[in-house]
Amino acid sequence: MKKSFFLLSAFILLFASCSDVNEQISFTAMNTYMAVRSYGKGSSAKAANARIKEEIEKLENIISVTKEESDLYKINNSNLQTFTLQPDTAFLLEETKKIYEKTDGALNPALYPVIKEWGFTTENYKIPSEERIRELLSLTDFSKIEISKENLLLIKKTSGMQLDFGAVGKGYAGDLAVKILKESGIKSALLDFGGNIQVLGTKPDGKDWTVGIKNPWGGEPLAAVKLSDSCMITSGGYERFFIGEDGKRYIHIFDGKTGSPVENNLESVTIICKSGLYGDALSTSLFVMGLDKAVDFWRSSGRDFDFVIITKDKEIFYSKNLEDSLTLLFDFAARYPLE
Ligand code: ADP
Ligand code: MG
Repeated sequence: MKKSFFLLSAFILLFASCSDVNEQISFTAMNTYMAVRSYGKGSSAKAANARIKEEIEKLENIISVTKEESDLYKINNSNLQTFTLQPDTAFLLEETKKIYEKTDGALNPALYPVIKEWGFTTENYKIPSEERIRELLSLTDFSKIEISKENLLLIKKTSGMQLDFGAVGKGYAGDLAVKILKESGIKSALLDFGGNIQVLGTKPDGKDWTVGIKNPWGGEPLAAVKLSDSCMITSGGYERFFIGEDGKRYIHIFDGKTGSPVENNLESVTIICKSGLYGDALSTSLFVMGLDKAVDFWRSSGRDFDFVIITKDKEIFYSKNLEDSLTLLFDFAARYPLE
């Protein structure tokens, strides 16, 4: 009796997993190639994918810095002090403000005027004068943003302040997508939002997803990570940068203390954690902090995420917690598991 019950259960399980349909969708939003692969019963995966595309396009219309109807466009292009915001914008402002405080300003959505001046929005790159940078830095005090507690849809900003969610938007979009998948009853999915990887559940066969960390010097991934129900998000200086007249590489991640692109020994920072928004915010923040401060931050924040840091000297530093899920595929100069 027991045996036949077991066989029946096994059959039902097998049948259930076989009947999951694999649906894929890809589209461009937030200046990024986005791809979703989800597995679900009947047309559920297809419908969920379509809803994801729709919701992300809506999000883009709210937080884009270039679309005139967006909240950020309104904030950035008027001298008003008070704005009524969509819930997504209010939520992102609240969350990024907390992370701005927690990271001692390493994440700062108010750096936009500085980033623009260096030409990163138009690709007309230039190195601004020190005087100009100082002038623009005076507009970047994100702590001056006040979000009303009684009514989330109200913020105050100081004149001249301009914001962008470039460092967190894709991660937040991933969280929205995962929420939609869960609401649709999907148990298994893989999202790739411009290199931000988020997975729901395991693969349909019950095994972890295996995802690669890009090799900043080109070629095959330099490490593979096993993931379930989490995200893996990388910030690096190797994809968006320009070479100045002085021959130096200027990257798209900025240090709010200097008003210039970050210059340190890091090639990439990968964060593995539960929330896309948090992972995206931290990959940028830890890159800005540099190795020592990044590791201190991880230790002092209760190790509530994992990290892989690659340096220009081809060393790898990672949280020891990853030891079972991380496979190194590159001839690193040195390997440092940290605890
Ligand atoms: P990517 O979007 O290339 O994956 P990031 O998540 O690290 O990389 O975000 C970088 C983007 O965030 C930049 O293009 C810029 O718009 C913005 N940014 C740069 N430096 C900072 C910073 N210190 N704090 C907040 N946003 C930043
Ligand atoms: Mg980021």
